[in-house]
Amino acid sequence: MKKLPVVDNKETEDFSFKSLADFARPIYMDNNATTQVDDDAILAMLAAMEKNYANPSGMHEAGKIAKQKVEEAREDVANFIGCSAKEVIFTSGGTESINAVISSVIKTGYPRRNIISCATEHGATLNKLREIEEKWNIKYDISYLGVDRSGSFSLEELESILVKNPHHNLLVSLMAANNETGTIHYNLFQAVHLAHKYGALFHVDAVQIAGKLPLAPYIQAGVDFLTISGHKFHSPKGVGALFIRDGVPFEPSILGGYQENGRRAGTENVPGIVALGAIAKKMPQYYDLVDGLHGQFIEMLSKRIPSCIINGGGVPGTINVGFKYVHREAMVAKLSQYDLYASVGSACARGIEPSHVLAAMKVPQEYLHGSVRFSFSKYTTDEEVVRAIDIIDRAYTEVRYYSKEIIPG
Ligand code: PLP
Repeated sequence: MKKLPVVDNKETEDFSFKSLADFARPIYMDNNATTQVDDDAILAMLAAMEKNYANPSGMHEAGKIAKQKVEEAREDVANFIGCSAKEVIFTSGGTESINAVISSVIKTGYPRRNIISCATEHGATLNKLREIEEKWNIKYDISYLGVDRSGSFSLEELESILVKNPHHNLLVSLMAANNETGTIHYNLFQAVHLAHKYGALFHVDAVQIAGKLPLAPYIQAGVDFLTISGHKFHSPKGVGALFIRDGVPFEPSILGGYQENGRRAGTENVPGIVALGAIAKKMPQYYDLVDGLHGQFIEMLSKRIPSCIINGGGVPGTINVGFKYVHREAMVAKLSQYDLYASVGSACARGIEPSHVLAAMKVPQEYLHGSVRFSFSKYTTDEEVVRAIDIIDRAYTEVRYYSKEIIPG
């Protein structure tokens, strides 16, 4: 299947003699933003588009076959999550699933009105909660847990909020792993227990852990809702899933037909759904793949640029590097010139405002604006890691040279 074009694969021993052309083969290290679609996922999609294009609600044979394909994919996704098929609904992705959970609990949980989340959540959670805080007539009490330098919240703070008024607790919504730093909320399992103890439902945004680590422990811990997004682990964009625990009340946000058992209306995205099913079946075999590369990248980078720091961390293949006294956008642009595609962290982190995640983690000022995320996938290679370090070293030297007058240090 199609790969990024190989323009030039020349390697030289001595870094100082490298020219722009030596860096000409693109290295994609922005996999937390989105991933290359897997070959089997593409084949499944093509088959669905060519052969199973009927509407799964159709009463004819073709409709029944399309419906069967959707149900087979639901089984595969359920196995991947570690739940039963009837607990899975297909959505358009992470943002929709998160919005659907929050909107649903508001409808089903009235008059409960305390919601707890975290300062470092994704915009899909934060902006939905902001809307409820600012635009709804009923007053909702929304609290955001702080984090320490590693990006972790504390169970004590969570309990201190939950204990205040258990009759009003509605929802605790926390991410399993952070999209910008890869920090894993290891204490999330105890957080589920606390939420239930004080009467709240629990939603986990598992978008950045799905495809990288097993999801079953979250289901076993008792979460009520769990969100995943296909395009973060080699499915196409526009497909995701939401786990809704059997028996937990749920009101749909999208109304229309009776698709997804009345929980999400709209004709099913059959090609996307079968692609998600195809990758869900094979993804667990890649869980450990990027672990070695991750360590190698950090070791080589800290030798080459000892002044840089690693912000957070935990998920294999997500490395947020703080470069001293430079601006992240200048770094990402320079890296891109040398065909290394990295990221400022998240779409919200554009412009002069620092990333809300790094600010919450109290990353020191000299690194706060200069932090760049490198994220790997099953397609990342050893050779790319080695080449990336050369490029980063060169880019940092150049960006630092030009920014010295603006940011002395
Ligand atoms: N949650 C997290 C942690 C994410 O990283 C993202 C996407 O970056 C989302 C939610 C939103 O997912 P989607 O892009 O599928 O809407």
